[in-house]
Amino acid sequence: MQEKNDFEFDDFDFDQGLELKESEEEKKVQPKPKAQEKPKVEEKKAEVFEEPKKVEGSEDDFFGDLGEVPGGQTVGMEEKISRFPVERIKFTSNYKSLISIVSPKKVAVKTHYLDGVGSFVCQGSECCEMLGMPKVRYIFPIIEYDTNREGKPVSKSVQHKVLSISEDQNQDLLAIHRKEGLTSVDILVICKDEQFQKTSYFVDGEARWKKDAKIRQSVYEFWKQNFKFIIAPIARQLTRKRLLEALGIGAKADQQGGVENFEDVFESDSSPM
Ligand SMILES: [Zn+2]
Repeated sequence: MQEKNDFEFDDFDFDQGLELKESEEEKKVQPKPKAQEKPKVEEKKAEVFEEPKKVEGSEDDFFGDLGEVPGGQTVGMEEKISRFPVERIKFTSNYKSLISIVSPKKVAVKTHYLDGVGSFVCQGSECCEMLGMPKVRYIFPIIEYDTNREGKPVSKSVQHKVLSISEDQNQDLLAIHRKEGLTSVDILVICKDEQFQKTSYFVDGEARWKKDAKIRQSVYEFWKQNFKFIIAPIARQLTRKRLLEALGIGAKADQQGGVENFEDVFESDSSPM
C-alpha cells in the first residue's frame, strides 16, 4: 500500500518515476540480489517525502480558484468573520492604535452582564431588580487607521469600528472635545490594561481622513447604512421573554399576567391545547 502511494507521487511529478517503478517491480520479482539498487531507492523516497509540502501549497491555490459559494464567503484559516456589520475596536497593550471619532454625538446604552448571556441591554425592569443598577456605556462610530505598532499610518486604508467607553473614559474624551473638537482630530490610543480595556487618549493632529474626499464619502455612506447596528457588537437586545428566561423567572411572569407582547399572548393561548 505504502509503495503504491510512492509510485503515484512519482508518476505525477518526476520523469524518473518510471525508472523507480521499474526498479521497484524488479525488486518484487527478485528481492534478494538487488542490494546495489537500494541507495537509489532511498534517494527517491527522500524526494517523495518532501513532496507533500509543495502539494499543500498548491492545494491552497486550488481552493482559492474555486471562488465564492452562494450565501457564503471563502476565507483563510486565520480570518475571522464578525457576526455584525461593524465590530467593536479592541486595544492591545503592545500596539498603539490611531483612531478618529466620526460623530460628535454618542449613543448611550445601559447594560447588564449575565453568565451564559453576556452583555445585554437593560430593559429597566426585572433585570435591574435582580442584577442591580446597569452600567452605562457610551458608543461612538469611529474609524481605525492602518498603522504600525507605534500608531503611525502605513497606508490610506481605514476600518469602520465601534468604540465603547465607560463614564471615566468619557471624561477623557470630553476634555479633548472641549479643547479641540472631538471629530476634528485623530486620537492615539494607548492601552494600559487589555483585560479591562483601560486606555489613554492623546490628540495626534488634525483628522487625516477628513482631508480625503473619497474616505469622507465612504465613512458617511457606511454609517448611513449601518448606524442602526451600532449597539449589536456591545450588547445583545433580548426579547422580554428571553430576558425572563435568562433571569430564571419565566414562569413567575406568566402568573402575574405580565402579558406585554404578542409572543406572550400567543404562548398562554396555545398552552391549554
Ligand atoms: Zn436593567
